[in-house]
Amino acid sequence: MTHSHLIPTYKRQPVAFERGEGAWLFDTAGRRYLDALSGIAVNALGHAHPALIAAIGEQANRLLHTSNLYEIEVQSRLADRLCELAGMDAVFFGNSGSEANEAAIKLARLHGHGRGIDTPRIVVMESAFHGRTLAALAATGNPSAQQGFEPLPEGFVRVPYGDLEAIRALDDGDIAAVLVEPIQGEGGVRVPPASFLPSLRALCDTRGWLLMVDEVQTGVGRTGDWFAHQASGITPDVMCLAKGLGGGVPIGATLVAGPARELFGPGSHGSTFGGNPLACRAALAVLDTIDDDGLLTHAQAMGESIRGQIEARVGGLDVVRDIRGAGLMIGIELGRPCPELVETARERGVLLNVTAGSVIRLLPPLIIAPPEVERLVDTVCELIENAAASDNDTRANA
Ligand code: PLP
Repeated sequence: MTHSHLIPTYKRQPVAFERGEGAWLFDTAGRRYLDALSGIAVNALGHAHPALIAAIGEQANRLLHTSNLYEIEVQSRLADRLCELAGMDAVFFGNSGSEANEAAIKLARLHGHGRGIDTPRIVVMESAFHGRTLAALAATGNPSAQQGFEPLPEGFVRVPYGDLEAIRALDDGDIAAVLVEPIQGEGGVRVPPASFLPSLRALCDTRGWLLMVDEVQTGVGRTGDWFAHQASGITPDVMCLAKGLGGGVPIGATLVAGPARELFGPGSHGSTFGGNPLACRAALAVLDTIDDDGLLTHAQAMGESIRGQIEARVGGLDVVRDIRGAGLMIGIELGRPCPELVETARERGVLLNVTAGSVIRLLPPLIIAPPEVERLVDTVCELIENAAASDNDTRANA
């Protein structure tokens, strides 16, 4: 396949899909694949979900876009619903995860200036991923993604992920906020210690910092809670959403509570497309379906089943270093880089991803059913067993 007029920012796999149904995608040759990646945590309801199709169709027939210069009833309804689910106060809508994080970064700066700090800084984590726009990229903890784009915006201080003592030890004179993923996605499905978020919440309260959670990948049911931080019993001051929220229709959201509530006012931030009727209607359909179909409990159960079965079958192999995650955000870390498994899995009809070099990442749609779980577990275990066998052969021949 040639892409002569596409800027090659992505190294594309040699397959194109022409339709999807539930957890399955069909390529242009009619071959079907179990989608255990969901467009990187986007297709929360899988493909061609009737409720999402109906909502989008109905809205498209009525009104696609007006402008944030006018009242948008469906946007207000979505904001109400998100605030109710998150226990937060208000929402700014954008179109992507990066944009949601840009809004959070701007909020942190306003918060810092409001506290008399001239050059406010935000605490961010090693191996974090927050997006590709310049400030989100500066917050991202991946030097290879940043390389060449200097000068990056300043105002970030980096600590090891999950290390509360490192944050506590920072000279806090100019710190305004902490930005953190409840579970790191691109960084390798890394789960912090259970005490991390509650302790961080307490520290932010003591120091007057905003606690900002990037739930772009973890949010909207992915981890078996509406939002991953809820498993820790905390409420953040700022929460960023995107990916699964629109079920495939682009939408981003930055939620605020408490001290972050009054920071943006008329004219201080904006987005032409942000929260347009089509995107909001799609997001409402996603939230309603998760609710109506009990998909939080389902995601929790399917995730436990996947992790449990993989653990039982290959957890004892030397090549498997760790099996972790929450709900349907699952990482299987191998003891060596394994990028080749993406292709091997695809050849066997399963779409998955390898992140941080050696972590097999599974992000199936929340609607994945038990027979599909069996198929996924079988394929992943076979890949790992084969990897272990070929490592043994290599060792034997060395
Ligand atoms: N934040 C997190 C945690 C992400 O995983 C991502 C994307 O992978 C982003 C932000 C960026 O989102 P987007 O690509 O929609 O800008």
